[in-house]
Amino acid sequence: MNILVLNCGSSSVKFQIIETDIPLIEKDKDRRLAGGLIERVVGQALITLQVEGGAKIRETAPLRDHRAAIDYILKWITSPESKISNITTLSDIHAVGHRVVHGGERFTMSVLLDGPVIEQIEDSIDLAPLHNPANLKGINAARELLGPAIPQVAVFDTAFHSTMPETSYLYAIPYQLYRRHRIRRYGFHGTSHRYVAYRYRQLSHIKQEETNIITLHLGNGCSACAIKNGFSYDTSMGFTPLEGLVMGTRGGDMDPSIIDFIRHKEGMSVREIETMLNKQSGLLGISGLTNDMRELLAEEQEKQDRRAKLAIDIFCNRAKKYIGAYMAELGCAEAIVFTGGIGENSAIIRERICEGLSCMGISIDKKKNSEMIAGMEGEVSAEGSRLKVFVIPTNEELLIARDTVRTVKNVPRRW
Ligand code: ADP
Repeated sequence: MNILVLNCGSSSVKFQIIETDIPLIEKDKDRRLAGGLIERVVGQALITLQVEGGAKIRETAPLRDHRAAIDYILKWITSPESKISNITTLSDIHAVGHRVVHGGERFTMSVLLDGPVIEQIEDSIDLAPLHNPANLKGINAARELLGPAIPQVAVFDTAFHSTMPETSYLYAIPYQLYRRHRIRRYGFHGTSHRYVAYRYRQLSHIKQEETNIITLHLGNGCSACAIKNGFSYDTSMGFTPLEGLVMGTRGGDMDPSIIDFIRHKEGMSVREIETMLNKQSGLLGISGLTNDMRELLAEEQEKQDRRAKLAIDIFCNRAKKYIGAYMAELGCAEAIVFTGGIGENSAIIRERICEGLSCMGISIDKKKNSEMIAGMEGEVSAEGSRLKVFVIPTNEELLIARDTVRTVKNVPRRW
C-alpha cells in the first residue's frame, strides 16, 4: 500500500509517501518513495519536495491555507514530472496517516478517522490549543480532497504514554482537578520513543517485554521516557509539552509560582508569559542568542561565549537528572538511547550528558561516539559499560505509515 503521511503544524505541512504493508513491515522492507515540507503556509509558502534518491526541488507558491498546501502536495505527487514510482493518480494513494499531537485519555492507540472520532479530537482542543487545530485542518482537508473511499488514520503523540501508571501521570494537586478536568501528565513524542524502542529491540534481539530502557529525544523539543517491559512507564513532558527537559525555546521544569511573580513584576498577562515559556525560553532564553544547538556549540567553542556555555550546561545537566530519576524508577534499565536532531548528531552533547555517570554503569566510548553521526545507528558505550548507550535516528513517519496499514487491516499495535 502507498501511504501518505501528513504532519500539519500551525504554519507548515510535512509529508512522506511510504510504500508499506504487513509482509513488508515483517521483513523491514518498507520504502520511502517521496517526501517534502511546505513552510509559511498562509502567504508565499516555501516548498521543498524530493523523490527518493533524487535532488531536492525548492519552489515558492502563494498558498492560502492547509487545504491549499495539501492540494499542492497531491497535485505534485500525481504529476508526470514528479515520477514517483507506482503513483500516477490519486487512486494510487491507498490510505493517509495523520500525526495528531493530543489524543487525551480517549485515544490509547491509532484509530481510523470517522465523524465521531474527529468530534472527539475536536473535544481535545482545549488540551492542545497550539497543536490539535492544525492537525484537524489537515485531516479535514485530506478527507475533502481524497474523498471517503480512502481510509485515514490518526496516530497520536500521546498514545504510547497511555500505559503510564497513576504514580507517573498524576500531579500531586487536589485529586478532583484530575477528575473534573483530566489534569494529568499525558506526555508527547510518543511515536518517536516507541519507534526507537522498537529499533533497539531489533538491534539487541530482545523481546518487547524485556525492553527496559531510557530514551532521550533531543531535538527542538526534547523529552525523556522510561520504558519498562516495553511500555512507557514515565515521561518528562507533562500536561503540555512545556514540562521536563530544557528545549530549544521551552524551559522545561520550573516552579509554577514564577508565573504569578513575572505577571506582577513585568506586567505581563498569563497568556504572554505562556508564550514566553514556549517560544523565548530554553536554550534561546538562557543564551540570548539562538535555539540552535549547532550555533551554541560554535559560540561556546570559538568565542568562549559564557551564556552559550551556560545554556548547554543547563541543557545537559537537566538530561542527566532525568537519567538518574528514571534509573531509580526502572530499577534495572539496560540502555540509554539518544535520538532527535541533537541526540542523533551531536557526539559532544551525548558525551556531556553521560559524563560522570560511570558510577551508574554508564560510560561512553569517545571514538565510537564521535563517529556515530549523520543518520548512523549503533552502540556508543564503552567496553564494560553496564548500560549500553545507543544512537538511533528516529523515524516517526515510518511508524505512522505502519500504524496506518495495521489500523486499516485491523491488526493494530500499541508498541
Ligand atoms: P525538531 O524537534 O524540530 O524535529 P530536530 O530533531 O531536527 O528538530 O532537531 C533540531 C536540533 O538539532 C537543533 O537544535 C539543531 O541545532 C540540532 N542539531 C542538528 N544537527 C546537529 C549537530 N550536528 N550538532 C549539534 N546539534 C545539531
